[in-house]
Amino acid sequence: MAEPRIQRITVLGATGSIGCSTLDVVARHPARFEVFALSAQRQADKLYEQCLAHLPRYAVLGDAAEAERLQARLRVAGCGTDVLAGAEALETVAAHPEVDAVMAAIVGAAGLRPTLAAARAGKKLLLANKEALVLSGQLLLDAVADSGARLLPIDSEHNAVFQSLPAAYDRRPGASGVRRVLLTASGGPFRATPVAALEAVTPEQACAHPNWVMGRKISVDSATMMNKGLEVIEAHWLFGASADQIEVVVHPQSVIHSMVDYVDGSVLAQLGNPDMRTPIAHALAWPERIDAGVRPLDLFEIGRLEFERPDFRRFPCLALAYQALRAGGGAAAVLNAANEEAVAAFLAGRIGFMRIAEVIAASLERAGALAVDTLDAVLAADARGRDLAREEIRKRQTAR
Ligand code: NAD
Ligand code: MG
Repeated sequence: MAEPRIQRITVLGATGSIGCSTLDVVARHPARFEVFALSAQRQADKLYEQCLAHLPRYAVLGDAAEAERLQARLRVAGCGTDVLAGAEALETVAAHPEVDAVMAAIVGAAGLRPTLAAARAGKKLLLANKEALVLSGQLLLDAVADSGARLLPIDSEHNAVFQSLPAAYDRRPGASGVRRVLLTASGGPFRATPVAALEAVTPEQACAHPNWVMGRKISVDSATMMNKGLEVIEAHWLFGASADQIEVVVHPQSVIHSMVDYVDGSVLAQLGNPDMRTPIAHALAWPERIDAGVRPLDLFEIGRLEFERPDFRRFPCLALAYQALRAGGGAAAVLNAANEEAVAAFLAGRIGFMRIAEVIAASLERAGALAVDTLDAVLAADARGRDLAREEIRKRQTAR
């Protein structure tokens, strides 16, 4: 077989947890992948190290003055990377004609525009930034369809579902014999914490996930189970499944990454050690397979796999996400925006853990029905969700 042509990759959010795992996999296969561009919001020192290691054509930082300083340091080190600054530069490196694949690993709604830019430019889009899809749903799918881009899920659950679906999967209801999509959830650090004790948990406790090492925002989302809620909405868009067809199964070992239940009674699952390099390598090399540096699964060491029903009272955020998906329109955008604001306020010590769900519920209720058929409408729904959430946060702010 002929050697595959080298794929040029842009990694958006390169300094984050997913970004670093992506660069780890890429570095294992220099004959397959070349880094075209790397981005970070701050963390200039980390980006500097990554530029020296991967020699990208471009690096992008959030702030112009920081970018100039980084440019000067790289020149002194003899590195030819050009440093750009600002949100527009993210779109430039995502849609650049020489790029084959874009890893969308910016956290939150900030990733929406560059993710859309990659989709519109017909790239192979490796989607970790679930918030972008939750926010823009149909808009992002339409951009992918119009340009002939290829969307590959990086979120471990959706990557597992993708792997468990037929290659010629037909998203029309019933067409491929799919009965349900079963999304597994670890249950996070508070699966067994008494509900009364949740009032007083700290950001550090919320970020200490039992199975996965992740950025702080998604770690808090895992603790509230909003992460699973966002993933339910993500599964709806990716696989065309209705809210009723998507079921969450708490599985504390995080060995089964998700499953597909078929009408003939078959349930197909994807298993592996909880290491994001597996879905990243899968999507990078798809439809081939490459070494991800992940140790083989030892079923004897694991011994048992357990399953529980999710507790919607302990985790009201999960119920709110189903509610937003069923409501349709801009509800998911408001849910996502209010969640980002509430999580940031919790991480900053401004509100307690249990206030997160309250802020989101109140924001959803006050926002009412909003249309989201254009990018401007999506951004307006996002802005409305943030405004409402900030008001709700102020009402609940803890005295300092
Ligand atoms: P992280 O916080 O570790 O990294 C985020 C990256 O985005 C950093 O490089 C940061 O510089 C950049 N960034 C932050 N704000 C930005 C802004 N306003 N503009 C431009 N860049 C910005 O996050 P992470 O854990 O790597 O998660 C990234 C995305 O992947 C999230 O959407 C998350 O939900 C998703 N995801 C993560 C995991 C995981 O295991 N970490 C698993 C599944 C999905
Ligand atoms: Mg996930």
